[in-house]
Amino acid sequence: MIVTHTIEHAREQIALLRKKSRRLALVPTMGALHDGHLSLIKLARQHADYVVISIFVNPEQFGPSEDFDNYPRNLDKDLMKCKNENVDLVFAPDLFEVYDTQHFLSIKIDSLNRHMCGGSRPGFFEGVLLIVNKLFNIVTPDVAVFGQKDIQQFLIINQMVNEFNHKIKMVMAPVERANDGLALSSRNVYLSKEERAIAPGLYRSLNYIKTQVRQGVINPSLLIEHQKSELEAKGFKIDYLNVFSYKTIEPVLTLDKGVVYIIAGAVWLGKTRLIDNILIEL
Ligand code: AMP
Repeated sequence: MIVTHTIEHAREQIALLRKKSRRLALVPTMGALHDGHLSLIKLARQHADYVVISIFVNPEQFGPSEDFDNYPRNLDKDLMKCKNENVDLVFAPDLFEVYDTQHFLSIKIDSLNRHMCGGSRPGFFEGVLLIVNKLFNIVTPDVAVFGQKDIQQFLIINQMVNEFNHKIKMVMAPVERANDGLALSSRNVYLSKEERAIAPGLYRSLNYIKTQVRQGVINPSLLIEHQKSELEAKGFKIDYLNVFSYKTIEPVLTLDKGVVYIIAGAVWLGKTRLIDNILIEL
């Protein structure tokens, strides 16, 4: 397994891999790897000959009051996990390798970021596009794998790939969950024992909404308000909980047949923000 920390070295090594004219898949991550990340690596392997994983905690996607400084980091452990998964190349640059002290350009998002996480984390997706665009240019993958866990991220990056003509196949991996349904996340380590015990409640609520919608509820607002109250009673603070259009990422009031929707929520348990979603096609 090649481990590289500089853009120049990564480019050299990737050029060597490319000489054999093989397909290359990229799995971008912020490290603190868990089984969700490993499922992305496994899926990447099905789409390419070589798997490259990037590990970089991207400050541009954290707001001033968010957890950039405390975000879990453990490169040695991550490298061991990558080795076990037969990753071919790990690109783990430091902050100064990726960002000059001054930068003059940014990527503007006109739509797709007004609701869900984009609504509550201003600048977040611009930061995501900045780093993903850099990674795409450095690694030049044929395939990029992202998780459904961050579905809005997937859809916005997919839009960037289409609009900015990146020649990259986007692959979405399903959400990997703990046995009790909680979506795996690097941030789950922040949860206290008590918080961890109630955390699967978010997925349960999403599933309840899905079942009701499947059973014919076409105006889900009352149902959602009820689920919000139930979650609040359990100790969650709601950031958002709603049904969104898969196409526009806007909340929908009535549901139509033959359309794909995202049932999604973001909640706080103490200082930890959890997100989750379910896709449904009526
Ligand atoms: P992160 O390190 O949190 O930026 O995540 C890196 C990638 O892993 C993103 O594409 C996430 O959507 C994906 N990911 C995170 N958690 C999970 C999960 N539980 N199941 C599947 N993919 C995940």
